Amino acid sequence: MKIGVLALQGAVREHVQAIQACSAEAVVVKKAAELADLDGLVLPGGESTAMRRLIDRAELMEPLREFADSGKPMFGTCAGLVLLAKEIEGQEAAHLGVMDMTVARNSFGRQVDSFEADLDIAGIDAPFPAVFIRAPHIVRAGEDVEVLCEYDGRIVLARSGPFLGCSFHPELTGDHRLMQLFLDMVENRELLPTAAHYSKI
Ligand code: GLN
Repeated sequence: MKIGVLALQGAVREHVQAIQACSAEAVVVKKAAELADLDGLVLPGGESTAMRRLIDRAELMEPLREFADSGKPMFGTCAGLVLLAKEIEGQEAAHLGVMDMTVARNSFGRQVDSFEADLDIAGIDAPFPAVFIRAPHIVRAGEDVEVLCEYDGRIVLARSGPFLGCSFHPELTGDHRLMQLFLDMVENRELLPTAAHYSKI
């Protein structure tokens, strides 16, 4: 199983290590050709507007949309979650827009830009340690979006067809159970609901 990590900016190395720790092959993706033979793709944390600029500069927007259309799973963490969302609060345009949800950016308050919390995640034995860094959260989850975790009354992990997105950085601890959950989605891709019903922007 070959999993790519979009490597234009942000927490790339830790995702590569998490993928390898789960016995899959990790591929660093900087250009479109590197998406070709992947089974799944991680969109890491970082800064979503900066990442979008780099995506455009690398002419990766269309190839990423095609990757999403193909039904191959994508896992967006933090800024990656923002890239997946159909709507971003206070912004006119979304990025990939493949998950029917609205996200709010930097939503856990300035004074706590960064913190750790133990989460209770559907399908994973509690506690799951999570690092939040200027984290977004999901303020609206569409009908097809399955909420897998809430923290402090806010949705911080959700899945929709082949797309998985979380507010936090699961790659910064040694706990790879969420990466394993993503790899299970990749492995069982044909069992996932198709992405056909998401509305494109
Ligand atoms: N606040 C960032 C954004 O909106 C995300 C932060 C992160 O990825 N750690 O893009």
